Amino acid sequence: MMERIFNFSAGPATIPLTVLKEAQAELLNYKNSGMSVIEMSHRTKPYEAINVEAEANMKELLGLGDDYRVLFLQGGASLQFSMVPMNFLREGRTADYILTGAWSEKALKEAKLFGATHVAATTAEGNYRRIPSMEEIQLSENPAYVHITSNNTIFGTQWQEFPSFANIPLMADMSSDILCKPFDATKFALIYAGAQKNLGPAGVTVVIMRKDLLEGLPTAIPTLLRYDIHAKNNSMYNTPPTFSVYMLNLVLRWIKDQGGLPAMERNNRKKAALIYDTIDQSKGFYQGHADKDSRSLMNVTFRIANNDLESIFAVEAAKAGLDGLKGHRSVGGLRASIYNAMPNEGCQALREFMIEFQKRNS
Ligand code: PMP
Repeated sequence: MMERIFNFSAGPATIPLTVLKEAQAELLNYKNSGMSVIEMSHRTKPYEAINVEAEANMKELLGLGDDYRVLFLQGGASLQFSMVPMNFLREGRTADYILTGAWSEKALKEAKLFGATHVAATTAEGNYRRIPSMEEIQLSENPAYVHITSNNTIFGTQWQEFPSFANIPLMADMSSDILCKPFDATKFALIYAGAQKNLGPAGVTVVIMRKDLLEGLPTAIPTLLRYDIHAKNNSMYNTPPTFSVYMLNLVLRWIKDQGGLPAMERNNRKKAALIYDTIDQSKGFYQGHADKDSRSLMNVTFRIANNDLESIFAVEAAKAGLDGLKGHRSVGGLRASIYNAMPNEGCQALREFMIEFQKRNS
């Protein structure tokens, strides 16, 4: 078998090797059922147990109690862009969005289809290099909710501290940094995340929401887009993405085994420092896209001063077993996505490649 490489893709992304091996070991015969979990009805005891455990593990990792629900849905984070306003934006209220990148713009675009919206802050000027300060945020008069994107996958910025707005529900797209470090999840009314970056394979979208939000939701929207229907049916109103939920649960167990979110943060800070330090010590050969105080622990975005070298860098890095480093087209350059499952050795190898590449090309 070919050696595994270091996969710096922004998502779908690398999954812990121990998790892949576990899934492999029980692929053909899940817990003596005589069948694969992929083949199993979701209306069976073994699958129900996976569903229940995944919700419990997610709540445990986030320190959430009985006043929260965790739902496992489909349609990606992109469908949440629509479901959030469909369910929560009422006549006479305004949905406030803080724009920190392309994904927040997309979320706002969907909200506009359902009611009044307001841009409470934006850092579009300068191509989303930073997160706004609290002073820059100007809410509308009567917000239904405030929406933020906790980590900007494309631009490589991340909220370092979350804002709070008294009793206005705070809702966040955490697709690219959920569970990367401890945070006070009780500050949030609703959190959503596509699984394919920090939680496992594509196909399942996690929604974490305060239970009281499930009361009095509109009923004149398509059944499958109603949070209350999914909650009432424990995410099994229709056939859930069973294998993705199973994998997600293995990833949650892995995070717990590693020491939970404090351990994730320790590792992620070490890993990110290996690459950011290389950029900062390169005397301008490499240039980070994000302002230093807004830098993401998950997506390191950078350019090479001589832009012509960027595609050569990506190709040569791939040959050296460092894959997926080409940046997103709207920023250009290079991007190293170093989610929870990227081992320290991967970041070390990238650092060594960057130093060696600079030596050869300056
Ligand atoms: N939000 C963020 C922050 C993302 O990074 C992405 C995917 N790259 C999305 C939303 C869209 O997710 P999905 O493809 O699951 O709809």
